[in-house]
Amino acid sequence: MKRGKKLYEGKAKIIYATNDKNLVIQYFKDDATAFNNQKKTIIEGKGVLNNRISEHILLNLSQIGIKNHLVKRLNMREQVIKLVEIIPIEFIVRNVATGSITKRLGIEDGTVLKEPLIEYCLKDDKLGDPLIAEEHIFAFDWATKKEIEKVKKMILRINDFMIGMFRGVGIKLIDFKLEFGRLKVNDKDEVILADEISPDTCRLWDSITDKKLDKDRFRKNLGDLIPAYTEVAKRLGILHEQSNVSVVNVTKLSSVKRKRK
Ligand code: 5GP
Repeated sequence: MKRGKKLYEGKAKIIYATNDKNLVIQYFKDDATAFNNQKKTIIEGKGVLNNRISEHILLNLSQIGIKNHLVKRLNMREQVIKLVEIIPIEFIVRNVATGSITKRLGIEDGTVLKEPLIEYCLKDDKLGDPLIAEEHIFAFDWATKKEIEKVKKMILRINDFMIGMFRGVGIKLIDFKLEFGRLKVNDKDEVILADEISPDTCRLWDSITDKKLDKDRFRKNLGDLIPAYTEVAKRLGILHEQSNVSVVNVTKLSSVKRKRK
């Protein structure tokens, strides 16, 4: 698969064209951003870990019938994905209240929700991804009622599966963000899961200690982000006896190789 021109660069990923018009390459960067890009840095090895963790989760989800954009992982930082038209909504799923909802509504941090709560945010960095009502989605034609019904069913299935998967390895799935896209199949649009699922897009707490194993380590200046993401990867059985050092070393090795070319 040949990497073509850059089509889009986001905060944590780059999308490149390929020689197949239906497929693109998703490259995971080491950039970490928070608070609508006001806080940013580079954390060496983060992209490598997110690539592996997201691949693992999306492969498992396709096995339970959740169609998604992943075709295959190419290397440490890249995966081939299906080109979709992204629905401009961030779907936030909450099992436990923390983060923005606690500030917005004065809910006590750590409150366990009776049922999973789905929130919608408009995907617009300039506006700071504002929270919207479901009615806004239909009023402004961001998605159809049929699409949102299908997405909601998929979200609840994804949430059930991921809660169980993480519970099995001693991690609580607190909340996460999903994105969906439209894929043309026989001239009809089909909605499939897109983007990534990783500690960048989920809140993951150790089941016993509540230690944060996600991007809040960066947002809240807790440090040790790479050891936390490595811990998630190890518990999921993705990185066996490799240590965090080896992830960073692989990153360094690949950058040395690139420089030599
Ligand atoms: P909150 O609304 O509390 O800030 O975030 C809720 C959940 O969605 C968290 O797991 C958070 O990581 C994820 N999330 C929300 N918006 C974004 C975003 O723009 N980028 C990423 N990576 N995650 C997000």
